[in-house]
Amino acid sequence: MKNILITGGCGFIGSNFVKNLLDNETDYFPVILDSLTYAGNKKNLDSMKNGSYHFVKGNICDESLVNNLFIKYNFQGVFHFAAESHVDRSIDGPKDFINTNIMGTYNLLEISRKYFNENSPNFRFIHISTDEVYGDLDDDGFFTEKTPYNPSSPYSASKASSDHLVRAWNRTFGLPIIITNCSNNYGPYQFPEKLIPLMILNCLLWKPLPVYGDGSNIRDWLYVDDHCNAIKTVFEDGKIGETYNIGGNNEIKNIDIVNLICESLDELVPSNKGNYSNLITFVEDRPGHDFRYAINSEKIQKNLGWCPSESFDTGIKKTIKWYLRNENWWKSIQDKKYKQERLGSVNK
Ligand code: NAD
Repeated sequence: MKNILITGGCGFIGSNFVKNLLDNETDYFPVILDSLTYAGNKKNLDSMKNGSYHFVKGNICDESLVNNLFIKYNFQGVFHFAAESHVDRSIDGPKDFINTNIMGTYNLLEISRKYFNENSPNFRFIHISTDEVYGDLDDDGFFTEKTPYNPSSPYSASKASSDHLVRAWNRTFGLPIIITNCSNNYGPYQFPEKLIPLMILNCLLWKPLPVYGDGSNIRDWLYVDDHCNAIKTVFEDGKIGETYNIGGNNEIKNIDIVNLICESLDELVPSNKGNYSNLITFVEDRPGHDFRYAINSEKIQKNLGWCPSESFDTGIKKTIKWYLRNENWWKSIQDKKYKQERLGSVNK
């Protein structure tokens, strides 16, 4: 078995990745390091077989803990998902973003450098990053791997910073790294502060659907399992030191997503109070709100043969049905931590 370290494996993408790996591979043993912030949830691992992974509750900034894990497990790879990930929270309080996304990544890089050696020739440090590092686009054009970094929010600035560190550890110290910059993910287990689960849950609870500005901002959307497959492909076949952009070719305006969710729910769980779209409420825009993200993912498609298998139409239906079937999962988050309140408004 190959031991691999998965940071942030109790979060949205990290837990989907562990599940994808365990469902499809037999020779990886994931050691999950997660500090269980508000966004981390041990329940995300419930469907996985006992003994098929090991969970460690801890902080990626904890030098001695990470050091001991490397000694104990002799990792053949690191998949670095752990991060503070919500733009609105980074406006309310950037400090955790600086600590985890920058200092935490630095800690992992330094310790990986110490233990990676000729006995682990296939070792890779896979850094999971975002297309938000590139800033935003007007109506035309796409982000490529050569687009200069121009982050707008404390979140994207901290991720950009971590990307630079990861590249430097390759260039200066020879650490075998690969960076992925992906567009917006959606799917099961996403924390309900993010657009798609927020809108689904607010509909189900008959609460207002807050749309920032006039709803014309555009994002590219990728189903989470397609992202997980891309990360596995990059780990197995990607070129050391390279960056791969990952996207779904699904550019959609926020307001169109909200309308689509409302229409699907009108069909699946009609409300006697009326159409869900009656709940749409335009609210003050997010400060510094990026207008448009669009990804050119030709490089990973041509060089590594990856392409998304889910269309937005099929992916969003699966996602909505997942939230309908997993009420216990989201209700337990609501009871304890978060009730879909507005975050990241400067004039609060
Ligand atoms: P998430 O917020 O759902 O999960 C983050 C996980 O990291 C949580 O389980 C949390 O407990 C853990 N964590 C946070 N700080 C930690 C620390 N100091 N030590 C240990 N664990 C810690 O995030 P996500 O949406 O799953 O994103 C995962 C990664 O993918 C992030 O690096 C993010 O920047 C990147 N990404 C996300 C998207 C997206 O659309 N969600 C798109 C592109 C890239």
